[in-house]
Amino acid sequence: MSPTAPAADPHPSDSYLLPVAVSTPAHSAVGDLLTYASARALPPGTLVRVPLGRREVLGVVWDAPPQPAPLPPGMAARPIASVLDGIAPLDAAWRRLVAFTARYYQRALGEVALAALPPQLRDLAPEQLARRLRRPTPPAHSPDGTSPSIALTAEQTSAAARIGVERGPFLLFGSTGSGKTEVYLHCVQRALAAHPAAQALVMVPEINLTPQLEARFRQRFAPQYGDAAVVSMHSGMTHPQRLKSWLAAHTGAARIVLGTRMAVFASLPGLALIVVDEEHDASYKQQEGARYSARDLAVWRGREQGAKVILGSATPSLESWHASIPTAEGGPGRYLRLHMPSRIGADAGGGTTADDGAGSGERTVAPVLLPLPLGEGGGEGLRPDPRPAAHQADKAGLPRLRLVDMGQQPRGAVFSPPLLAAITERVERGEQCLVLLNRRGYAPVLHCHDCGWKSDCPHCSAHQVFHKIDRTLRCHHCGAAQRVPRACPGCGNPDILPLGRGTEQLEEQLAALLRNVITPDRRAARVARIDADTTRAKGALEEQLAQVHSGEVDVLVGTQMVAKGHDFRRITLVAAVQPDGALFSSDFRAPERLFALLMQAAGRAGRDARYVAAQGSAPEMWVQTWHPDHAVYAALRRHDYPAFAARQLAERKEAGMPPFTHQALVRADARAQEAAQAFLQAACDAARGANLPGLDQVFLFPPVPLTIQRVANVERAQMLLESASRAALQRFLAAWQPLLHAERPRHRGLVRWLVDVDPQVI
Ligand code: ADP
Ligand code: ZN
Ligand code: ZN
Repeated sequence: MSPTAPAADPHPSDSYLLPVAVSTPAHSAVGDLLTYASARALPPGTLVRVPLGRREVLGVVWDAPPQPAPLPPGMAARPIASVLDGIAPLDAAWRRLVAFTARYYQRALGEVALAALPPQLRDLAPEQLARRLRRPTPPAHSPDGTSPSIALTAEQTSAAARIGVERGPFLLFGSTGSGKTEVYLHCVQRALAAHPAAQALVMVPEINLTPQLEARFRQRFAPQYGDAAVVSMHSGMTHPQRLKSWLAAHTGAARIVLGTRMAVFASLPGLALIVVDEEHDASYKQQEGARYSARDLAVWRGREQGAKVILGSATPSLESWHASIPTAEGGPGRYLRLHMPSRIGADAGGGTTADDGAGSGERTVAPVLLPLPLGEGGGEGLRPDPRPAAHQADKAGLPRLRLVDMGQQPRGAVFSPPLLAAITERVERGEQCLVLLNRRGYAPVLHCHDCGWKSDCPHCSAHQVFHKIDRTLRCHHCGAAQRVPRACPGCGNPDILPLGRGTEQLEEQLAALLRNVITPDRRAARVARIDADTTRAKGALEEQLAQVHSGEVDVLVGTQMVAKGHDFRRITLVAAVQPDGALFSSDFRAPERLFALLMQAAGRAGRDARYVAAQGSAPEMWVQTWHPDHAVYAALRRHDYPAFAARQLAERKEAGMPPFTHQALVRADARAQEAAQAFLQAACDAARGANLPGLDQVFLFPPVPLTIQRVANVERAQMLLESASRAALQRFLAAWQPLLHAERPRHRGLVRWLVDVDPQVI
């Protein structure tokens, strides 16, 4: 278990030459693998410490390349410093995953390999690590029984059965609250029971969602497999915790790993099942270093390692949705789509009746929908629902959408009278409301009416946001912060005003508007806010969520942070007050994201069917908009993701956008915009000059500045690459990489460059 010094070996210290993956600086000239000498033959995957320059670093012995690179004449390989004998070598499947990631996302192998390991493995000295490994683990709660389980509904039974017999990958397309998590639990249970060494990986997009998930999995599996069988992996954990989880997964002691995107790289020798929950979520795409998509890697890893893969969502990414269009319908049929349209307990009788419509996977239930009581005179500008009530039956108890046409509301009203009336009424009945605004702070900008001054960030091409609570102006891009000036820096006018609004202002205004509203337990209505500003302190989010759950809060104001995943039991109304911005964004994925966000948000309303039934009130999603006829809202009104997706896909096909083409971005950051663009242009010219493979099938767009062109005094430019063939794009990128490296030193003032394959933000 202790690291062995090669000197202790009786053989000469250079009898074996081994390729070792180490993390070298991103754009160094050093190749992917370095050669070291070892006294003993070490199998690939062995963790070692090796000298690199004047440091000693962690490395992974790698598979010998087909043609080992000869050492330059007169150069001897340096010896490996020590071997981490206490840790079994990383298996071939893990190494293939790392190698694929590096290749596909255009990064150095060593960088990806080392970033995929827990930090403590890199940072601890061998002796410290050896001590850590020797540390006795507290006796785990011993398994004493079988897992408690729950009777699945017909839809769940059917989905789980298909997952059991088909190969997948599966796209579990289930409404919010349709019981997807229960299907995951069921499939995990089946996978673990099938083989004593089987392991499952379950991923969620946000750290915030892991404690909730962990509690649910622990409750289900600890009785049978012991407490230690379930571990978490995410960046919110301390380094010792992460090492512990990683080792448990690597040794097989952990049977279930729950985590965020980084968990896709966990060493899981017994991997049998991978679940990617909320697979559409943008957080699965890493935004620095190797810009991998954990969802896409999960699918790759599953196929490669023979593990089943379930992607779950109520609003799948258009890529996954497209992949799940059956061949019979002219689609690629790569994923198997499983549909669960009904909300659990939509019949208000508890969700455990699994006896109807057996095997059909479809079930029609009568939703709890009551006529909407509106405040007097507040109906104006509200879109009546033109559809016959019968159409709603198959929508299975999902909240009804109320669109408020802001063109018909009093000018300048943040809350339209009908929405305010509806919130008031809910609060008076003791129900909770959630109000969403995707912008934190008090106001996005301060403004002087006299001279036109605006609170621009001196370092970025963006405004500084006004935070009233501490009277600061803060840049949300570079973090620069300053006190609000007493008077306009431009003209001295003491009257500078906030323009637009953020969550902080919304909370303040709503509290004022509801100040005379009394709850059934005779207290004044309470408004609270949850966003990145209120949850900075450790444990703050949990504390604030607990207040919502305990009913101390009547109206919760928040950003998208609260729209995702949380199981609020008493929220019956959700409102998006200003969602229109995304309708006209230059990013072609903006409508998709808006639709997903609003559907997710709607999913927070009326989650507890029994509560809703007891209250006799129908859950509702309110949207205030200036564009009530927009196709996004029309589809949302019908909870009709398939129609929305079909339309979006038709548009994307027409415009030659993903998933019908494949994209990559090259970004360049420099002191001056011209320098950034010059680098990109030169790289492009070099590619054409060398007539690189794949070039005939790849379209290179001209370099352009990013939407937010300057951040922290760095100018940013990018160049988009597009191809109908993923393989051609990959061939081109691989051949281009050395030219980009060669171009780099010719461009002074260039700060960095990077390649983003399958970029999510363009
Ligand atoms: P989703 O992941 O699709 O949002 P969940 O799996 O969290 O849905 O289920 C929503 C709620 O319904 C949870 O409170 C869950 O415990 C409950 N539930 C799920 N499946 C069943 C079932 N078969 N019988 C009773 N309750 C269920
Ligand atoms: Zn001024
Ligand atoms: Zn800034």
